[in-house]
Amino acid sequence: MINVEELRKIIGEDWIITRREQMEGYLVDETALAVRPKPADNVVVAKPANSKEISEILKLANSEKTPVFVRGGGTGLCGGAIPTVDGIVLSMERLDKIEEVDKDNLMIVAEGGVTFESMLKAVEDAGLFFPPHPGDEGAQVGGLVACNAGGSRAVKYGVVRNYVKGLEVVLPTGEIINVGGKLLKNNQGLDLLHLLVHSEGILGVITKVIFRLYPRFASSGNLVISYDTRRDAMDSVPKILQSGVIPLAIEYMDRDVIETSANYLGMKWPAMKGSAYLIVILTGANDDEVYLQAEQVSDICEKSNAVDILIAERRGEQADILKIRSEIYSAMKDKTADILDVTVPPASVGVIMDKVDEIAKRYNTTIPMYGHAGDGNFHPHLLNDLRDRGMVKQVKREVYREAIKLGGVITGEHGVGVIRIPDLDLCPDGKVWELMRGIKSIFDPNNILNPGVGLL
Ligand SMILES: Cc1cc2nc3c(=O)[nH]c(=O)nc-3n(C[C@H](O)[C@H](O)[C@H](O)COP(=O)(O)OP(=O)(O)OC[C@H]3O[C@@H](n4cnc5c(N)ncnc54)[C@H](O)[C@@H]3O)c2cc1C
Repeated sequence: MINVEELRKIIGEDWIITRREQMEGYLVDETALAVRPKPADNVVVAKPANSKEISEILKLANSEKTPVFVRGGGTGLCGGAIPTVDGIVLSMERLDKIEEVDKDNLMIVAEGGVTFESMLKAVEDAGLFFPPHPGDEGAQVGGLVACNAGGSRAVKYGVVRNYVKGLEVVLPTGEIINVGGKLLKNNQGLDLLHLLVHSEGILGVITKVIFRLYPRFASSGNLVISYDTRRDAMDSVPKILQSGVIPLAIEYMDRDVIETSANYLGMKWPAMKGSAYLIVILTGANDDEVYLQAEQVSDICEKSNAVDILIAERRGEQADILKIRSEIYSAMKDKTADILDVTVPPASVGVIMDKVDEIAKRYNTTIPMYGHAGDGNFHPHLLNDLRDRGMVKQVKREVYREAIKLGGVITGEHGVGVIRIPDLDLCPDGKVWELMRGIKSIFDPNNILNPGVGLL
């Protein structure tokens, strides 16, 4: 039973939804429909205003053993924000204040429900730069930290974790803790901050984040490099990384995939030749530096059989290329039964892509692919024909087995959520999962926060 009466006392009648038809948007996320978890029947949505109200809600839920599901922007791709058992959906949308952009310390302090879009605007208005860029700006700051989101710029700058300096977190038992601060060095005790980053909402509710910022780069350029084979494209990647040029991003996509996205947007993909593409984004202190890097990368790619190289120097051209890249998932969503998030050591991406092609052939299907080539992280799309033939699970597990053989993992940036749990048995170090479950039970002795998420 959910104690709606007590919830009303904590946050007020206006901030609670009890009628099903008014809460539909809170019961889904962006997980592909065929594998998206089904929401439970008896759910109440609560929209607290601050960490104190969240603390009161969690104290109540903990004492009554009511499950609570934390909801950020709902852009997650593995069902982590979906209430899969009866309980409370805790929506973070009202914690939407940017408290400070601290130019002297190069830090931003934002509440957990601030959208990524609002945060980027505040950072840009201050003339500064937040390096990572996961694909959907509707995500919230707390969600980005809870998922340790990645995105295309990780080649040069790493993932969201690298920028988190401080957190305010409400524990499942209701206590409010602060870890870290506006600090670049902090060795005081065990590193709880980084335990909470990528905790997928199972250890606490992230109500405030301090991120490190950087000065803006002065110049950038995008290269679109065309190849006749995927293997040639992938073989170029380690050579670029060994050359000393560190691109902001190295993205890979099949021709079909990028053209699907361009058509979906009513735009035109600028490359005419080839069937496999790299987008290489270069940044530097001035145009000359970017130009020099572009020459170096072009030389390397020509030696690796590139058939065409386009350089987009103008901001508009660069933005169009990135727009087409960033809308791939939206364009492919209706055709997709599951979007995988496999990650292998960067130099093995070409090998695993060949293995995925072999699997596709055996199952008489195609598996379109794109991804963050410079990070070893890519997204094979299992299409609806596999769903119709009841083969999604089988094919997925074959892909996972090949990735694990190469020293990889079944998820590199999207997380475990709900939908990846049934395949964690393929990663069999039982002691590791036992330790993680032990940590969860210290933070959340009654298992009320995001039950059924993130752990085997
Ligand atoms: C088009 C598209 C492109 C994407 N591209 C990328 C990409 O390039 N890289 C990448 O890494 N991801 C990507 N994603 C996935 C997604 O945007 C990220 O996982 C993002 O971090 C989710 O944030 P959210 O606020 O939407 O979280 P939600 O979907 O609301 O929740 C995700 C998980 O985080 C938990 N959570 C949310 N907020 C909090 C909080 N304040 N405290 C504690 N737990 C919380 C939830 O309980 C849930 O388990 C993409 C998604 C889409 C739809």
